[in-house]
Amino acid sequence: MIQQYVTEALILSVRDMGEADRLAVLFSREHGKLSAAAYGARRPRSRLAGTVQSFAQVSVSLMPGRNLDTIGQCEVKRSFRELREDLVLMTYAAFLTELVAELWPERSPEPSAYDVLTFALAFLSERNPRLVSLAGAWQLLALAGFHPEYERCVVCGQLLTLPAFFDSCAGGGVCPTCEHAGLQPLDDAVCGFIDRLLNLNWQQPPAFKVTGAVLLQAEKILIEFIAHRLERPLKSIRFIQMMKGTERLEER
Ligand SMILES: [Zn+2]
Repeated sequence: MIQQYVTEALILSVRDMGEADRLAVLFSREHGKLSAAAYGARRPRSRLAGTVQSFAQVSVSLMPGRNLDTIGQCEVKRSFRELREDLVLMTYAAFLTELVAELWPERSPEPSAYDVLTFALAFLSERNPRLVSLAGAWQLLALAGFHPEYERCVVCGQLLTLPAFFDSCAGGGVCPTCEHAGLQPLDDAVCGFIDRLLNLNWQQPPAFKVTGAVLLQAEKILIEFIAHRLERPLKSIRFIQMMKGTERLEER
């Protein structure tokens, strides 16, 4: 017998469906990613209108269907409203939620990733959102099995001494002997920074001091790494790069 169930979830994305409905992609702590229909959610008087929104953390009751689950009740635990009201924060939040949606298939529970995403969404508005999204993205990739290798050269297996290079395709550091054209440089500062991001404790996030050059290089490596790990490019990355272009112009 098909039974309604209740779960805690982050809403990864929401889009319009039909005339008055919404389709939400949820990331449930217990059930992983799943798609659910919010029927009537675009009608102003619908109980779901103000609750089924991107980035919100909700407690939701779901009725399993043949293709889609249907959202019955949806109670907001944390709205993360600031992430929908500020374009910069919204872009970084969309980057993290899109990454999660691409990294895990439907119904593949990943409680650690759920926790990382929750912390990252919460800290986006409290700390430097560039650093928060960078730490979140590196950790999510590692949880999905894509921990970058920087102890040993991914080609010859020798212990890696820095400065070296990063091969996004092979997923890790490459020693100068094995280096080939087109690899990103990887020095002590960048490698140490990525290592700190991967090990960042969200319960007690440290104060970060990082130079612009190191931050940019860690971002560049991350973006290439993601591009090689996912089957298709993330839509939000292009938007972040566009936004940075504007940021730089404004600084002049
Ligand atoms: Zn090597």
